[in-house]
Amino acid sequence: MKEPLSRTLLRGRVLRYRLRRNRRTRRPGLEVSRRDGLVVSVPWRAREEIVPGLLHQWADWLVAKLDEHGAWDGPCVREYATGTELLVLGRPRRLLLKATSPRERGWSAELGDDRLVLHMAPDRILSPRPVIEQYLRGLAREHLPGRVEHWALRVGRRPSRVIIGERTTRWGSCSPAGTLSFCYRLVMAPPEVVDSIVAHEVCHLRHLDHSRRFWNLLDEVCPHHRRCRDWLNRHEDELII
Ligand SMILES: [Zn+2]
Repeated sequence: MKEPLSRTLLRGRVLRYRLRRNRRTRRPGLEVSRRDGLVVSVPWRAREEIVPGLLHQWADWLVAKLDEHGAWDGPCVREYATGTELLVLGRPRRLLLKATSPRERGWSAELGDDRLVLHMAPDRILSPRPVIEQYLRGLAREHLPGRVEHWALRVGRRPSRVIIGERTTRWGSCSPAGTLSFCYRLVMAPPEVVDSIVAHEVCHLRHLDHSRRFWNLLDEVCPHHRRCRDWLNRHEDELII
């Protein structure tokens, strides 16, 4: 997201938001999340002056959402240091950031039951988020293909490709060509929750819709998928880095 943060007042309180101009948007829209803060989508040629009126029109809803997500100041920027907790495969792990020699460009990781040790050059320790992201992406590339394989055997369909990337709105998706995509941050969730998302997408290789036949298949192969979906909804804010 590259739009700069704008500021306005809502009910006497400073509110930071991003204005997103969209060629396909006809009516303005508001979206609040902890990750992105408030995003105001407007048609391409709209003037920013329409925003305060829009926000006031939706103030009751907006104030509740902003409080709920702690999003008044814009996107959440989490600080990482030794001692910070990070969920990895559903378990909180204490981060331990250790300095290597300053000339060392790479990094390495050791995952323990309750801690994650990351070795990196001293200058990277001050802002270790890129290393944490690379670590989680690597873990996703290690963990997810095997789980796809497992569910592909159960469901009797094989994807043409598996892509691990960043998704902000969905944990996984399935394309008509049979490509499955997953958000790398999914590996922060417990293994059974990861599995339920993988199972969901693999079932789409048989039924590329949310028809009764699709849900019957998913219920059959992964009976606890609704409980897993609830877990994801409740812990969404913790699966952000
Ligand atoms: Zn689906």
